[in-house]
Amino acid sequence: MPRFYCPLPIRAQAEFDLPAGAARHVQVLRLQPGAAITLFTGGAGQGQWQAEVLEMGRSHVRVRALTHAAIDCEHRRPVHLLAGITANERMDWLVEKATELGAASLTPLLAERSVLKLKGERGEKKREHWQAVAVAACEQCGRNQVPLLHPAVTLAQWLAAHPRQADESRAVLSLAPGSQPLLQAVPPGTGPVVVLSGPEGGLCSAEEAIALAAGFAPVTLGPRVLRAETAPLAALALLDAGF
Ligand code: SAM
Repeated sequence: MPRFYCPLPIRAQAEFDLPAGAARHVQVLRLQPGAAITLFTGGAGQGQWQAEVLEMGRSHVRVRALTHAAIDCEHRRPVHLLAGITANERMDWLVEKATELGAASLTPLLAERSVLKLKGERGEKKREHWQAVAVAACEQCGRNQVPLLHPAVTLAQWLAAHPRQADESRAVLSLAPGSQPLLQAVPPGTGPVVVLSGPEGGLCSAEEAIALAAGFAPVTLGPRVLRAETAPLAALALLDAGF
């Protein structure tokens, strides 16, 4: 059944017009009145709604909410990615796959060696674009909680704004000798994990140093050099496997 992101307050038997994005998506699928659809509001623990299409207008789609289902397809623990910004289309791919793999949030990192430099209005447009990529990935994969795409920041800015939480684990994906396997560095449990990874050229030594000083444990994902968009995904999958 087709799923649509519908960030509106929904209650049983309510009739309402879908937000523009969802309406366009329904129209593209050429659904007709009577079609059964699933709506999700995107918030944590808000589940999803079965609904039906009532009316297909030129630019609006009217629906009726039917029944709620408290379905939650979340990662076993909140994992926040702090990922060095990669080249354009690869970042879209990283956002889409990180959403499928259950990331709670993604902060694009303006690393020293990031190729893409995002500032001001251009940065906000990019953030909105990546947030839409995450919504589309939730519509496809069945997640009802949309991961938050934060504004791009430097590592120093992120650290200044995020004092370490009591139960928070921090891991920096590192090729440096002596890095530990992920599941040794991150204690089991359900507390939040922040995973820091570099751009194509890696984190510079100053970034690695402030990360270690801020409690990020250096973690290896094995002997091969993974692409900047592959490494965070591997970490997400390992942390969800829970062995
Ligand atoms: N030449 C760069 C360097 O030496 O750091 C390669 C960077 S790699 C393409 C991009 C990022 O992916 C790295 O900064 C690191 O965070 C992560 N990464 C890649 N392979 C990894 C591995 N085997 N273990 C841990 N992290 C890895």
